[in-house]
Amino acid sequence: MYKTLLIKYGEIAIKGKNRHLFEDALVRQIRHALKSCDGEFTVYKEQGRIFIDCGDGYDYEEAVAALQHVFGIVGICPVMQAEDQGIDVLAADAVRFLGVSYQLEHQTFKVVTRRANKRYPMESMEISAYLGEKILEAYPQLSVDVHDPEILLHVELRESGKIFLYSKVIPGPGGMPVGTNGKAMLLLSGGIDSPVAGYMICKRGVKLDATYFHAPPYTSERAKQKVIDLAKKLTPYAGPINLHVVNFTDIQLYIYEKCPHDELTIIMRRYMMRIAEHFAKETKSLALVTGESIGQVASQTMQSLAATNAVCTMPVYRPLIGFDKQEIIDVSEKIDTYETSILPYEDCCTIFVAKHPVTKPNLHIIEASEKKLSEKIDELVRTAIETTETIWVE
Ligand code: ATP
Ligand code: MG
Repeated sequence: MYKTLLIKYGEIAIKGKNRHLFEDALVRQIRHALKSCDGEFTVYKEQGRIFIDCGDGYDYEEAVAALQHVFGIVGICPVMQAEDQGIDVLAADAVRFLGVSYQLEHQTFKVVTRRANKRYPMESMEISAYLGEKILEAYPQLSVDVHDPEILLHVELRESGKIFLYSKVIPGPGGMPVGTNGKAMLLLSGGIDSPVAGYMICKRGVKLDATYFHAPPYTSERAKQKVIDLAKKLTPYAGPINLHVVNFTDIQLYIYEKCPHDELTIIMRRYMMRIAEHFAKETKSLALVTGESIGQVASQTMQSLAATNAVCTMPVYRPLIGFDKQEIIDVSEKIDTYETSILPYEDCCTIFVAKHPVTKPNLHIIEASEKKLSEKIDELVRTAIETTETIWVE
């Protein structure tokens, strides 16, 4: 029934001179999202709007689900195409369209006509009034409300002679098209938080790369696979992700050997940031992203975050900073990463964690402890970088 989908976009419509860049990015993301769906799709811009013509045999539910992952889309309107065979055929189509689209009870409605086809023999107001009358005849339980109708039926007489009918707006994910705001490096662990942090940054139009630190044999292949799976869960929103898998074992063992154990987590975190930043620079990311939130664990107190932050020269974005755990879980369920995140595989931080980690680290003390690591740590970092495995996740 729906041969065309009309895409509504919000925020990007107000970007002035750059508007076409945003629209082009949105068109690209839509095409990319539909690649994995059955059927042929033609995506095009027309008069400040984006349309998708759907070829025969496409799966409506599948296409809509794919589009609901494309940031920048505010709404998806399924469109019925009618032929121009006179106003009474159009009225019959409108009646049928409403009947199929809604469970009609006592709703209020309004018809809005847009007439780009100036050859059409009636004015738009006249057309709306006539269709409204015929709809009331067919569904006498309805009533007209021109100010605040529950059902708004759009009728578009297009220049091409085609007629589009649409009404329902299926919500999209909002945000901005990925790729319109540069790229960031996500520190992706196997937990609940970091995939959500990635999703949120990506929602603002930022493309993602990711870095994962594993510690074989202390962490298993399954733990690594879990992170790959999480990255994959993000790709319908983010597009392909270049995942850097860093072997962190020797660095962790060495820190464990040389540094006070209550400072382990902070010092490890600082090395993670340093290495992630190396890859971020190398791959032209503009920022680091973590799933940290104030006070969640010892390594996320204000003092700990400051100590971790001190080694970074790039901005570090922490989109979950003010979120409670439950709020983070709610998003992870929505984006379908939760079930994967809670699989019980060991994490490299939990293995080397101290019983009583410092919660208020003093930066001078941490720096003094790191001095004990001497040049050997630089060599270990170099080796970790050189042996990093890069996985293209799509
Ligand atoms: P998450 O649920 O994201 O694992 P968490 O609550 O377990 O977070 P931490 O373990 O303190 O918190 O990690 C804080 C942040 O540091 C993570 O959100 C992630 O961005 C980064 N991080 C932690 N461990 C790793 C790792 N092994 N690889 C990559 N990044 C990590
Ligand atoms: Mg974690």
